[in-house]
Amino acid sequence: MAAQIDGVFEAGLQKKIAESKVLVVGAGGIGCEILKNLVLTGFQDIEIIDLDTIDVSNLNRQFLFHKEHVGKSKANVARESALAFNPSAKIKAYHDSITTNNYGVNFFQQFSIVLNALDNRAARSHVNRLCLTAEVPLIESGTAGYNGQVELIKRGLTSCYECVPQPAQKSFPGCTIRNTPSEPIHCIVWAKHLFNQLFGESNEDEDVSPDTADPEAGAEAGNAALEKEANEKGNVDRVNTRAWAKQCEYDAEKIFNKLFYDDINYLLTMGNLWKNRNPPKPAKWDKMQEGEEDAIVEDSVARDQKVLSMGQTAKVFAESLKALKEAAGKLGDDDHLVWDKDDKDAMDFVAACANIRAHIFGIPRKSRFEIKSMAGNIIPAIATTNAITAGIVVMRAFRVLQQEYEACKTVYVRLRVNGRNQFIVPETIITPPNPKCYVCAAKPEVVVKVDTKKLTVRELRDEILIKALNMVSPDVTLDGTCSIVISSEEGETDCNNDKTLEELKIVDGCILKVDDFLQNYELSITVLHKEPGREEAAYEIVADPDSLKPKENEQGKPSEPSVDDAQPSTSKGVNGSSKPTMEVEDDDDDMYIIEDDDDEKPSTSSAPAAAAAGTPSKSLEKRKHAPEDDEPANKKAKVSSSHPVEDDDDLVILDD
Ligand SMILES: [Zn+2]
Repeated sequence: MAAQIDGVFEAGLQKKIAESKVLVVGAGGIGCEILKNLVLTGFQDIEIIDLDTIDVSNLNRQFLFHKEHVGKSKANVARESALAFNPSAKIKAYHDSITTNNYGVNFFQQFSIVLNALDNRAARSHVNRLCLTAEVPLIESGTAGYNGQVELIKRGLTSCYECVPQPAQKSFPGCTIRNTPSEPIHCIVWAKHLFNQLFGESNEDEDVSPDTADPEAGAEAGNAALEKEANEKGNVDRVNTRAWAKQCEYDAEKIFNKLFYDDINYLLTMGNLWKNRNPPKPAKWDKMQEGEEDAIVEDSVARDQKVLSMGQTAKVFAESLKALKEAAGKLGDDDHLVWDKDDKDAMDFVAACANIRAHIFGIPRKSRFEIKSMAGNIIPAIATTNAITAGIVVMRAFRVLQQEYEACKTVYVRLRVNGRNQFIVPETIITPPNPKCYVCAAKPEVVVKVDTKKLTVRELRDEILIKALNMVSPDVTLDGTCSIVISSEEGETDCNNDKTLEELKIVDGCILKVDDFLQNYELSITVLHKEPGREEAAYEIVADPDSLKPKENEQGKPSEPSVDDAQPSTSKGVNGSSKPTMEVEDDDDDMYIIEDDDDEKPSTSSAPAAAAAGTPSKSLEKRKHAPEDDEPANKKAKVSSSHPVEDDDDLVILDD
């Protein structure tokens, strides 16, 4: 191929490419593109890992996969398909999770470079930590809709993935939505999907039935689902949800009982899911009618603000279902309704279904008004953004192989050109490491504010260490004692799980030493006792302990990412900038929107010029944020998080 013809690449690069060994983590939207780019540019020794199997909904953008591959391993099929482009390449595929102990520091050290094409923060953080320890350059990438991002992470030179505390994440994996909702937003997203299944444009990604392929449900459920692709309860039902609803003429009782009784009972048979969670309680239509004499609140303002009783909610469900059925009936056969938060019936339906589901899973219910504001918007994964982003990833990889690290500034891909006619926008500088980073600093430390009288050891492990701090297998000891609080050895410290921190003498001012051997990561946690207010999160993590000191000198903030930089990392988000505190609500998948900003310096990049032709700049949207407290006032690009529904692929690049 062209890349192997002398003269296509500059002297030396062709050889470096041929001699390098590359790891691609993730074989989804960006991963497929990266793998194709690698084999076409002459890379000879490539390994790719992905835990997922191919779903029908992947086929519109994960172009190494075709219909006949549905249900098969993404990594294996990506390997086979990519080899067709260059049969002489050596590609090793792993159908596995990168977070297992098969892939430790020694594994990472074999590679010249690691390319991340992941869809969730936990895996990103894990690879970040291993690459830092193994001292292997990592190129991190992600996309959200039309926006993308690519950045180099290199120990000592650049900020790492976790240098800037990350804000709450707002997108959710399918399993959470379909099987194990734990927050109101999960139920709202599910209800919107249900609307589309019944009346809207149905999308395989928006299935609402129990997901039998949930990895957490255990191998058995997953395998059974794969073997039986036309399994009557699970993954195939979705195709027929609307046909079935039509058949029963959108009968409120039948639909209610299927969604909230039969499907929930089915979920209960997936026993693994409920080992560490409260199991849902199926709800039956006739029970909802009992003892509920309340009429529907007619006053629209009151109705908007109030959390309705379950009986009222069931009535709203039935009424909105009927109205939507009539509205849909007026449309042609191949036409459909479009969900709109300002459409009364559509909004009523989603609010009612979200609250019924919340009730079943023991999640607080919300007013219609709250649900409307949470329903947010959805960012689809876009093949073109993935392709541009993956192109930039591989161009950055060339620079890294040539050790031209200074040329590897973070790059953002945007929908619209900025004032400089760029739609691919590079940073002006390399973002340096944050000396207070709780991951890449010499001695990583954080402060955790919790109610030590209430927080249990299990919550410390699951919510704080694993979910918020992205560890995989933490061991925890209480500093200054020999007391082992949490052991990664199964069963060893189970007796502590339900004890509160205070019962284990972990009180205000204590220091916990945490060690995650899978990540070669050690962290020192100072515990501060605090009783959170009603509206506050159960805990708060402060990554920069200095920020707790009285602020007398705003300018004196050391260490914060430089004034000139934009968001230094993928999927970090709004207030990620230099805010030292974070609250993590959810652990999977990220997306963010990169907003336009026209303050970028002119770049010599040829790409933006080329792009300018087809990109309207007129409607360039500019949202100025008032600079926050400790946020550099002239921060260039702003990144905000949103509610992407698709979890695939997040970020971007370009070579200037
Ligand atoms: Zn860092």
